[in-house]
Amino acid sequence: MPAGRFAPSPTSDLHLGNLRTALLSWLFARDAGLGFLLRIEDLDQQRVAAAPGIAAHQLADLAALGLDWDGPVVQQSGRHQLYRDAAAGLDTYECFCTRREIAEASQAPHGAYRPYPGTCARLTEAERAERRRDRPAAIRVRAQGTTVVVHDLHAGEVCGVVDDFVLFRADGTPAYNLAVVVDDGLQGVTQVCRGADLLDSAPRQAWLATRLGFEVPSYAHVGLAVNRDGDRLAKRDGAVTLATLSLRGVGTAEVCRRLCASAGLPESDSAAGLLRAVAGTPWSRTPAIWEPWVVRPDQ
Ligand code: GLU
Repeated sequence: MPAGRFAPSPTSDLHLGNLRTALLSWLFARDAGLGFLLRIEDLDQQRVAAAPGIAAHQLADLAALGLDWDGPVVQQSGRHQLYRDAAAGLDTYECFCTRREIAEASQAPHGAYRPYPGTCARLTEAERAERRRDRPAAIRVRAQGTTVVVHDLHAGEVCGVVDDFVLFRADGTPAYNLAVVVDDGLQGVTQVCRGADLLDSAPRQAWLATRLGFEVPSYAHVGLAVNRDGDRLAKRDGAVTLATLSLRGVGTAEVCRRLCASAGLPESDSAAGLLRAVAGTPWSRTPAIWEPWVVRPDQ
């Protein structure tokens, strides 16, 4: 069944921005008559182990807002073999570069994604054998700077240059871009609605999906929640999870109304109420859905 999805990383409780993205991705899927899947992106075992029990909270919070999903919740940590099988047919190479070496070789400003300059792409077998003695290799896919254009419901045509990005980290962990594309492909995801911070990843992921023989999904990247300084919302910004808001006497129905209002949609007590309220309207053209949402501490 064609479906949309929400795919949280279980490293901290969902904050208002994550809940808003989840509500919107559910609304996009259900309003289009699609299935809706939940996937726990728990490949980073160190970060996941540092925050035990978070996935269960996340599911409980989504259910409390009235989101429903189809089939079992998929956990990426149990799917390593699928990622290895999918990558087996790709043209890949070992990369021994440290983060620092990549940073030094690239022009990207601090914090921005640094396209890989291709340092290890042309090592000889002897050079590889030599470097293997120093450190384990990450695995990169040979994409050679192909230009890819994807279509986003709001941003329109988004053009990206695909560098030789990492498929497996040096410790063998499948990288986010590989896992997300394999899972979306195998799970039949046809619609990807997520935060605008991932818009830049879409060309890379669309390129990989095509290489792996999957349909490229439709994309809708929605506005992120930010604090008063314009920085991405974080737990340190105060009462921003269902648990902390509930301590302040703000119940789930009220949170749902605020999430709806933040996106310029009819204020509804639950996801199902919102779906009924927008049915048959051109709701996805509402500008606030796509703009950053400034969350004040008293919100
Ligand atoms: N797991 C990613 C995150 O929590 C989302 C991945 C995606 O939606 O493609 O940011």
